[in-house]
Amino acid sequence: MTRDSLTTTQALPKVTRAKGSYLWDATGKRYIDGSGGPAVYCLGHAHDEVNEAVFAQMRDIAHGYRYNFTTDALEELTQVLRDRTGMAEMVFVSSGSEAVESCLKIALQYHTARGEKTRRRFISRERSWHGNTLGALGLSGFAERTLAYEGAFIPSIKLSPANDYRPLGPDNAAACAAELEAAILKAGPETIAGFVFEPVVGAAGGCVPAPAGYAALVREICDRYGVLMIADEVMCGAGRTGTWSALQHDGVTPDIMSIAKGLAAGYVPLGAALCTAKVWEPIRAADGAFGTGHTFTGHTAACAAALAVQRIITRDGLLPRVAENGGLLKAWLGAALADVEFIGDIRGRGHFICAELVENRATKAPFDPSRKLFLKIRARAMENGLICYPVGGNVDGKRGDIVILAPPYNATEAELVEIVDKTVRSIREVLALERIG
Ligand code: PMP
Repeated sequence: MTRDSLTTTQALPKVTRAKGSYLWDATGKRYIDGSGGPAVYCLGHAHDEVNEAVFAQMRDIAHGYRYNFTTDALEELTQVLRDRTGMAEMVFVSSGSEAVESCLKIALQYHTARGEKTRRRFISRERSWHGNTLGALGLSGFAERTLAYEGAFIPSIKLSPANDYRPLGPDNAAACAAELEAAILKAGPETIAGFVFEPVVGAAGGCVPAPAGYAALVREICDRYGVLMIADEVMCGAGRTGTWSALQHDGVTPDIMSIAKGLAAGYVPLGAALCTAKVWEPIRAADGAFGTGHTFTGHTAACAAALAVQRIITRDGLLPRVAENGGLLKAWLGAALADVEFIGDIRGRGHFICAELVENRATKAPFDPSRKLFLKIRARAMENGLICYPVGGNVDGKRGDIVILAPPYNATEAELVEIVDKTVRSIREVLALERIG
């Protein structure tokens, strides 16, 4: 198993402060944050307004426990998210994994409430990542991270990745949708609780937008067979791709969705699972409330942080800016790497862009995973004063080494140029050091 994202190594620099798009380590070295950590810090670091909102909340009360109280921050954030997403009800949690786990439990509670207790299995895709808790991990198609735990997961069915770079057929959207329908029919629709997918696949695939028209086909198929459509927007949601939810780009509303990373921008941990009235009403009628929840559900300081983050995103018009910058980032990266024959694909949307390195552009064959190119690029980037998010390991041959960029939504144009320049330089230096090309 390649511990690609779980580096616990000794040699990491110690970060001591940050401001905006920059961080400094204990030696005074400066880094530009090209990926917001793992696509989290969407307003950069130490934003005075967000900090003030959290401090003010903490002065009044840090956390009003949900069995005893509601709070202004919780109620206001609930309304903001209803307005942003069209969802009816939600539960707040403290991480993306908990958000996905909650989505699964909401789906199961919905089917139970409707007397369809046989619907217990989920369908998901290879080259997806849904989190580190056992439920979410079992649905993840990310062999490097799941192999050690095989056999302990809730039963699920895995489909091929939905990726236009490695399409299943000439009409990729139709082929991917047909694969989903066939899997539902083979298992028996009455056994399937939901289809879980990332509308723009993050770490496991590398900023892979859904094939055009795919989401609408998935919506139709899910409706046809009573299967819940569950969008995992932990990474691609909350504005990252230039629309508030990634699926808004496709004009499709899921039944249940998860969000986390950008919601409170990393100032305080916060995630959420949201569902439509269709899902909520049977649950409300049967049980009155979600069965799922945690000690820190609706943490007040976290809700205050998210409220401030969402207010700033709207006030400063950041979503259209993110949408427009996406085209620029891809164009700059593509132009600067045009002569590098090992760049297989440059893709993504908004501030969620990826370059995929392959050994053979014609066959799209990845580099041998033992070369660990992605780790070398990450280390080189750090030397060059850049935080980016390379992922690799590729034990299944279904993806090359990828380098993800996910800058803050409020990064300046000069900062975006610096991020692209340092990314290109780091990739080129590693290829040269490895004598590739
Ligand atoms: N779903 C997706 C799509 C993710 O990208 C992640 C985290 N990378 C998770 C779920 C899990 O989130 P967390 O790490 O906060 O538990």
